[in-house]
Amino acid sequence: MAGNKRILMTVYNRLLKAIGPRNWWPAETAQEVIFGAILTQNTSWQNVEQALSALKKKRKLSFRAVRDMDRQELAEIIRPARFLNQKARALQEFADHFGKRYRFSIKKMKAREMEPLRDELLGLYRIGPETADSILLYALDKPVFVIDAYTRRIFSRHGMLSEERTYDDFQHLFMEALPPDVGLYNEYHALLVHVGNRFCKPKPQCDRCPLKGLRHT
Ligand code: SF4
Repeated sequence: MAGNKRILMTVYNRLLKAIGPRNWWPAETAQEVIFGAILTQNTSWQNVEQALSALKKKRKLSFRAVRDMDRQELAEIIRPARFLNQKARALQEFADHFGKRYRFSIKKMKAREMEPLRDELLGLYRIGPETADSILLYALDKPVFVIDAYTRRIFSRHGMLSEERTYDDFQHLFMEALPPDVGLYNEYHALLVHVGNRFCKPKPQCDRCPLKGLRHT
């Protein structure tokens, strides 16, 4: 575990020095983070931005507004984010729950403990571990490490865990070794997304990558 901590912190420090802080999540409010976390499933961030800006333009970027909307109308607005019917339903089911349980208050939601809150989110339509953890970390300031495909690829290529291991296995690797620090988890995940997006592609571009030379399998 001490070895894992050393490697994970070496990776973090190297990335932070080479890339700089990413200032995540790219959103103006906690509610906007949640919209983004739901809309970004299986699509590019560019598409999500278009959907968010369409919602903003129609003054519908709030869960109270979304709860009261006609689902077809909502689906049309978020069309750029793809899988519109499923995502419209996911947004409305989240909105319904958020309204009933927390009266649309992020503050009230934040006040709930992380574990039961995570279970609660995982019980909602189309909210899987990555989406739930993105909401917990970036909208609600809970210390949970978000795992995504880039994280799996980078750390499997560096011999930490095989890419086929479960979401929980990867999360355990980080959360066992690192302190429960919201700022650290926030920045670390954002830096890994940058590396995955720019360098650690299906065909890795190690020569340009800040992690070049780090232990490989
Ligand atoms: S691109 Fe190469 S050096 Fe960079 S994270 Fe991927 S495998 Fe490592």
